[in-house]
Formats: sequence, structure tokens, C-alpha cells
Amino acid sequence: MTMTDEHHSEIAIVGAGAVGLAAALALAAAGREVVLFGQASAPRDGRTIALLDGSWRLLGALGLSEALDAIASPLAVMRLVDDTGSLFRQPPVEFKAAELGLPAFGWNVENAGLVGALAARAATEPRIRMVAQAVTEIVPGADSVRLAGDGFAPVEARLVVGADGRRSRVRGAAGIAAREWSYPQVALTAILAHRREHRDASTEFHTRAGPCTLVPMGGRRSSLVWLLEPREADRLGGMDDAGFARAVERQTHSILGAMTIAGPRGRVPMGGLSVDRFAAGRMALIGEAAHVFPPIGAQGLNLGLRDVAALRDAVAGTGDPGDAAALARYDGARQADVRLRTGAVDALNRTLLTDLLPADLMRGAGLLALSRIAPLRRLVMRQGLAGGTAAG
Ligand SMILES: Cc1cc2nc3c(=O)[nH]c(=O)nc-3n(C[C@H](O)[C@H](O)[C@H](O)COP(=O)(O)OP(=O)(O)OC[C@H]3O[C@@H](n4cnc5c(N)ncnc54)[C@H](O)[C@@H]3O)c2cc1C
Repeated sequence: MTMTDEHHSEIAIVGAGAVGLAAALALAAAGREVVLFGQASAPRDGRTIALLDGSWRLLGALGLSEALDAIASPLAVMRLVDDTGSLFRQPPVEFKAAELGLPAFGWNVENAGLVGALAARAATEPRIRMVAQAVTEIVPGADSVRLAGDGFAPVEARLVVGADGRRSRVRGAAGIAAREWSYPQVALTAILAHRREHRDASTEFHTRAGPCTLVPMGGRRSSLVWLLEPREADRLGGMDDAGFARAVERQTHSILGAMTIAGPRGRVPMGGLSVDRFAAGRMALIGEAAHVFPPIGAQGLNLGLRDVAALRDAVAGTGDPGDAAALARYDGARQADVRLRTGAVDALNRTLLTDLLPADLMRGAGLLALSRIAPLRRLVMRQGLAGGTAAG
């Protein structure tokens, strides 16, 4: 059986979001033949992604530097403001990338723009065959997995990569159970224009309902991620653009001056998802098929891109990329990193949601310690940036 004709493939990826597209490019760059299923586009919903250093280098190595330079903005300063009204409220904490000798912590880009750039790059890669249809049937076998759906001939693949998001069909076919939970929060997203310069700084206001964050974009524009109690999200989300912009300005204490809506707005209910295993039966999970958590600390897609790098490395040099040893290597490589991030984001989010005094004290003391102790600050900043090896 040849593995690269129309009906057979070494590797098939289900899902052409940012993570699936990046996986196709990384595996193709490593010499693999790949079929990528799904519509390569993302809705314009105001969501932006802060790409940390490791992700930036990985995408650069995949040939995206020029395209991303044109649409991404540097994030040079991160400011945390305790806006909970707690008795133990701490002064704002500021982290500067320059303290680490870096030009920026990361680069902020609209998710839809990132997916567009990745799709344009994938279209020029001869080792990637893009099939815009959805996969509706997945049948695991001992030597390959069969994928079928409307509008394309069934494909047999040695390895199927599930990059099909939180409702992953691949995860179900692999028999991997997911633990899901929800938070009493909804994220409102938007792109705003403002009167004052942001000076490449993001500011995260920690409120009782969750963080409200402004992340710098090109010109006098910032993206908003505002986590709110669902009823309040409905009220604010129902406002017209002018009313909503005024509400954001009030919540962010006018630090960027008068605001107007300068792009699409979105609404995302907050939840989490984790899996015990990242691979089973010739199938491997990457991105939100394997882990979902709230958008705090710019972790989700960065973690997904580290899945991509780990998968590429796990199958390197194997004749059969779906064999049990390659998948065990991938699973082993992802367990600790994903667990650490999921736990840390969940814990931070829950301390914000609680009214308990000890949690306030701990968060207050924690923020204070972070701001005062330079080596600790640098450690935390490096932790946030961890994944510098993703480009590897
Ligand atoms: C408000 C907000 C802000 C965020 N900010 C950041 C940030 O700053 N930094 C960061 O790192 N992360 C951030 N994230 C997280 C980040 O957006 C996600 O981790 C990332 O978009 C997930 O990408 P994905 O490719 O895994 O999944 P998705 O984008 O969900 O893509 C899955 C794709 O699979 C397709 N698909 C599903 N089923 C099938 C099928 N059967 N056949 C074919 N195709 C299929 C879907 O149509 C979709 O295109 C944020 C998230 C939110 C909600």
C-alpha cells in the first residue's frame, strides 16, 4: 500500500484551526505527507492571541515571519491591577520584558488573521493536501484509521491527529474520556480604538467576576477580554457599540482615554476540559481537543503549539508515525506541561471568584511578593513564557 495516494496518507489531521494548520506545516516541514480536513477559517469575533516567544519562533520556522510581522503587535509590558475591592488590595504590579533582556513577552494577533496566514502558507506546501470538508466517520483499525465524510473519498491514515476543538470527534473515536467543567463566567471580546497610546502594554484588571484585560494592537487599538458573570455579560453584550465602549472605559478606569469599538465583538462561555491521555489507537489529540481553560495568562493556543512541536518530535524518524511507541512518546511529553497550565489557570481564576478572606490574603501577598522580589518576578515571567523550546 502506498501511503501518499488519494486514499492513503501517512498522517491525517482533522480540524484546520490555528493548531491543526500549524501541525500540518510542522509535520510537512519534517518531511511527512499530510491530509488536512476542515474549513481553514476562523470567525472574526474580536478574539486575539498573544503568541509567546516559543510560539513566535515555531511559527517563524514554519515560514510565517513576514506574514505575522505585518499583523502582530509587541507586548512589552504586562500590568496586573487588583480591582477586587478587597481589604488586602495591592498596588498594581508591572512586568517589563526588558527586565529579561527581551524586546517583548509576546506578539498579539487577531485569531482570524493568524488562521488566515497559516492557511495561506499551508496552501503553498506541496506535502499538504487540504480537504475543506468535515470528517463525519472515524473507524480505528490495527494498521490505520479510516476517515470518511461527504464530498471526499475515504482516506486511510497511519496516524490521525485530532485538532478538532473542544467537541472533538477524534477524541471520541479514540475512546479518550474528557473531564469537562464550567465556570460561572462569560468572556466578552472586542477590538477597541482609544485616544491614548497603550505603549505596548497589556493591563489586566482583576475584578470579582474575573479579569478584564486590554491587550495592545497596532496603532491606538487594543483587544478586550472581559470575564463576567453571565447575566452581566448578557446586559453588557446587549448594549450598542457606543454604550459598550463607555462601559469598557469605565471598567478600565479610562487608562487609555475615550474608546470606540473598532472591530467585531464576541461572547464565549467559559469552561475547562482535560484528558487523561493525549493519544490512543493511532490517534493523537492537540490543541483544544486535549485541553481548554479560560483565557487568563495567554496560555491556550501557546500550549496547543507546544503540542504541535512535541508531536513532530515524537514521530520524527519513525517509519510508522502512528505506532504505539511514537504515541507513548507524545503522551509522555505532554502530561506535565498541560497539567501544570490547566491547574495554574484554574487556581488563579477560582481565587478571583471567591469571597474567602484567605484567598484574598494569599493573592494579595502573592502579588506583593511578585512585585517586590526581582528574582521571583523573573522566574514567574519565565514560567509564563515557558515553551521557549517549542521552536526546537
Ligand atoms: C476570548 C479568548 C481569548 C484567548 N486568548 C488567547 C491568548 O491570548 N493566547 C493563547 O495562547 N490562547 C488564547 N485563547 C485560546 C485559543 O483561542 C485556543 O486555544 C485556540 O484558538 C484553539 O485552537 P484549536 O485549533 O485547538 O481549536 P479551534 O480553533 O476550535 O479549531 C478546531 C477546528 O476544527 C474544526 N472541526 C471540528 N470538527 C471537525 C470535523 N469533524 N472535521 C473537520 N473539521 C472539524 C472546527 O471547524 C475548527 O475549525 C483564547 C481563547 C478565548 C476564548
